[in-house]
Amino acid sequence: MSENKKIETSEWIEKKIVDFVENSPENSLKSDKAEPAWGTPLVAFARGDDALFSELKKDIGSFHWTPPELFGLAYPELTIDADELAVISWILPQTRSTRKLHRHEISHPSEAWSRSRLYGEQFNELLRSRVVDWLREANIPAVAPLQLPQWQWQESKRYGFASNWSERHAAYTAGLGTFGLSDGLITPVGKAMRCGSVVAHLPVAPALRPYTEYNAYCLFYSMGTCGKCIERCPAGAINHSGHDKKRCAAYIGEVTSPYVEKSLGEPVSSCGLCQVGIPCEASIPRRK
Ligand code: SF4
Ligand code: SF4
Repeated sequence: MSENKKIETSEWIEKKIVDFVENSPENSLKSDKAEPAWGTPLVAFARGDDALFSELKKDIGSFHWTPPELFGLAYPELTIDADELAVISWILPQTRSTRKLHRHEISHPSEAWSRSRLYGEQFNELLRSRVVDWLREANIPAVAPLQLPQWQWQESKRYGFASNWSERHAAYTAGLGTFGLSDGLITPVGKAMRCGSVVAHLPVAPALRPYTEYNAYCLFYSMGTCGKCIERCPAGAINHSGHDKKRCAAYIGEVTSPYVEKSLGEPVSSCGLCQVGIPCEASIPRRK
């Protein structure tokens, strides 16, 4: 594929994603107010042979997929070099209205946030499927890692439970953000977001990452200041050592999920109080 064609194709898919998020009626909190679940997305690309994918595998565990490994599960009949694969990654930012409502909460999630966790993630799932469909219709083999039947949670010796493909790490590799003290990804549109990805036979240029450190945007790691997300967590699951995944999961399982079930009629893994009311809520925090 020529350089021009590569750029054209990646711009085409980026535009399709942005248009779909901005215009689909499915991007909805499904409340009386007809509000969207997500604002305008960010889209970026990582190349399948990016060294960070192998480093992640070493760091998280051998079960963590590289792009060629997961692509091979979907297309065992194809032999495609890693540098001809693209990881298409997107960020779906929470809306200003949802963030504002959620900021007022101190122990349980706002209804808007829980709706974005439930209906917004259903939309994210639809977006994964649509991106795969658009690419396949253009004769470009593609797969959404989280839709592979082999996608699952496993035990990482170093990090506790971890999945074999992480949307946030894909976004980090594509240059969309770095990690914060609470484990969330701080992106140019902040940490109050969800993300997704698709891997395709689409040659792209190597990712341009405007950072070299894993946690460059977090004020605690870069400056030794802030720590506001510690105060926002009602479960005490964030401290100066980082994020206690087990404590966080227990709070969600025992407190917030049953709470949300009462209003939305089903248990939802909603919390995210540590993602708002903080300097990195909606942007990369400024260093003073
Ligand atoms: S609130 Fe502060 S300490 Fe927590 S992730 Fe954001 S910048 Fe880092
Ligand atoms: S998601 Fe909730 S329980 Fe987990 S760290 Fe954030 S505020 Fe704490």
